[in-house]
Amino acid sequence: MILQYILFDLDNTLYSSRYGLEMKVSQRIAEFLTAYLGGSQEEALRQRREGMHYYGTTLEWLMAEKGYTDIEAYYQAIHPAGEADTLSADPELRRFLESLPLPQAILTNSPREHADRILSKLGISDLFTHIFDMRWNGFKGKPHAEVFHRALHALGTTPETTLFIDDAPRYVKGFCALGGSGLLIDEENAYPEYPYPRIQDLRELLRFLY
Ligand SMILES: [Mg+2]
Repeated sequence: MILQYILFDLDNTLYSSRYGLEMKVSQRIAEFLTAYLGGSQEEALRQRREGMHYYGTTLEWLMAEKGYTDIEAYYQAIHPAGEADTLSADPELRRFLESLPLPQAILTNSPREHADRILSKLGISDLFTHIFDMRWNGFKGKPHAEVFHRALHALGTTPETTLFIDDAPRYVKGFCALGGSGLLIDEENAYPEYPYPRIQDLRELLRFLY
């Protein structure tokens, strides 16, 4: 198999989960859900847990099953302007990405403005040929097969010739199910039973390139 492209997730993949950035996004989502659904936060999260099996993101679930329609208000609430302020430039990451022998793109279940903020803070905005976000994907997220196929079609690759790296097991499994080379980044060793290739540091991806 000859790889042609590397497709990265963004959050907790290109920067450490230790920044707590995504945890804060999750908290804002929980607050948003609670306000929208009424009742307790516990109940709102319970409903989402039940419904989420069929959806890639909370927004998809809200729109499909809870009659939610105001996408922009949702994104403004969960991705406020200063959300990436604690992140700083990562020249070492930049050097590593620049040293990779393949073109690179991003597939995120977040909106573009979030991706732009993060990449700009990290100082790596210019390194990716494509950034596929939720708007580009018509508000359908990973792990839906059509989301992967759409991105790969734009890249001119196939699952077999693309290395996809994400910190969410169900997204990587979705890609592996298409015959793709999926790599789980598991920084905190949270998924020791995960059955497919798994790394703890992004630099380990070199082992999977050849
Ligand atoms: Mg992620």
